[in-house]
Amino acid sequence: MSNLHSDRMITAVRKHHYCEQCGRKIEPGSPAHYAFGNYFGDTYSNYTHVECHAAAHAYAELNGCWGEDYPWFQHMDRDIDWTAWLLEHHPIVAERLNIECDDEEAAQ
Ligand SMILES: [Zn+2]
Repeated sequence: MSNLHSDRMITAVRKHHYCEQCGRKIEPGSPAHYAFGNYFGDTYSNYTHVECHAAAHAYAELNGCWGEDYPWFQHMDRDIDWTAWLLEHHPIVAERLNIECDDEEAAQ
């Protein structure tokens, strides 16, 4: 069975969708990244905010996590390794995920 993957940028979504990365609403008229495909028999399709997609893609590239290991931030265990990275490099996405600078923890 061959796997299929396709993705594209949408300049303005017509209906609202929920971002697969942060779980927040993508408002009608907003740009979004759309992906669909078939992965070992499972079909999938999802919408993500442009910024969330960029952050996940950068994270995957940095850590070599593709396919099953591809990062889905809202489903990942909160871990200082990636939350700190996200805060530093993609603060907009960190904010959507309610990730904040935890100074108390850093001070311990
Ligand atoms: Zn998002």
